[in-house]
Amino acid sequence: MSTILVTGGAGYIGSHVCKYLAQQGYTVVVYDNLSTGHREMVRWGAFEHGDVRDDARLRSVLRKHKPDGVIHFASSISVGESVMDPGAYYENNVLGSLRIMQVLAQEGVRPLVASGSAAVYGLPETVPVRETCPTSPINPYGRTKLIMEWMLEDFARAHGLPWMVLRYFNAAGADPEGETGESHDPETHLIPNVLKAVRFPEACQVSLFGDDYPTPDGTCIRDYIHVMDLASAHVLACEHLLQGRPSQSINLGSGQGFSVREIVQAAENVTGHKVPFVIKARRAGDPARLVADPAKARQVLNWQTRFSDLENILATAWAWEQKKAR
Ligand code: UDP
Repeated sequence: MSTILVTGGAGYIGSHVCKYLAQQGYTVVVYDNLSTGHREMVRWGAFEHGDVRDDARLRSVLRKHKPDGVIHFASSISVGESVMDPGAYYENNVLGSLRIMQVLAQEGVRPLVASGSAAVYGLPETVPVRETCPTSPINPYGRTKLIMEWMLEDFARAHGLPWMVLRYFNAAGADPEGETGESHDPETHLIPNVLKAVRFPEACQVSLFGDDYPTPDGTCIRDYIHVMDLASAHVLACEHLLQGRPSQSINLGSGQGFSVREIVQAAENVTGHKVPFVIKARRAGDPARLVADPAKARQVLNWQTRFSDLENILATAWAWEQKKAR
């Protein structure tokens, strides 16, 4: 059976992908510097401590485990932080991706599946967003993800490196068996912040950023996709490339949009508790509506979502929040 090296496999999406890979019979090797990942989330394969920018270390891990493919998650993910500290984002996301491509090209090419983002579209003119929509990121985070895609195109041309970039919309939810989940510090994402406000109603309210958007209830609309559905797409992407099929970028979303207020309502339904919230000013760089057209993922990868109805996303995220609290 094949071995897959997962950079950032100790993180949120990475750990779910490792679990799913192991369930599918793959041998998993996690490569992570634990700057934001968690050692206890490495449960489905070997662990190699290392930074993606450290090409010598990466090379020795590749030589040791001889993976058949690489899935690359190790990157910085906060839009706000990328605006404050762009250098860290170009360094980690652009230089880190470049090092992986260089080492793969030097060591014998293996397919590379990399985590992309809907942030490459910026403020899309049409929704749902197809892969043919113009890419025009509006913050350093989105730019680093787009630069990575351009580098992959160039490395494929020059060195025959097969690649796929999966452009996530809003990753959410947790492992239905409660073995891993979302644990960012600080947490900036809506659903964990909403659930934290349910857990600590005296201590914190969730801030809802803007209720004057041109949407039916005035709050932003996003496409929430369950992390286990993301996981299955990565494995399909690996298999697609291992079969010698074409390199490309593909959206991963459910195709359905929910407003911030709808998320709050759904959290109240699932938890049985009121969500204490306060309306705040708009957050810079938030498009009013961001919803994927997932047709390409269905067609190219034969991908189907199984976990992404909103109630299940919130129920699994809520179970994980409660488990973390224990
Ligand atoms: N949001 C919010 N309060 C929060 C976090 C997020 O109102 O504490 C809003 C945010 O402005 C956006 C949506 O929720 O409209 C989703 O934001 P998130 O940070 O979860 O993901 P993003 O869409 O930025 O990738």
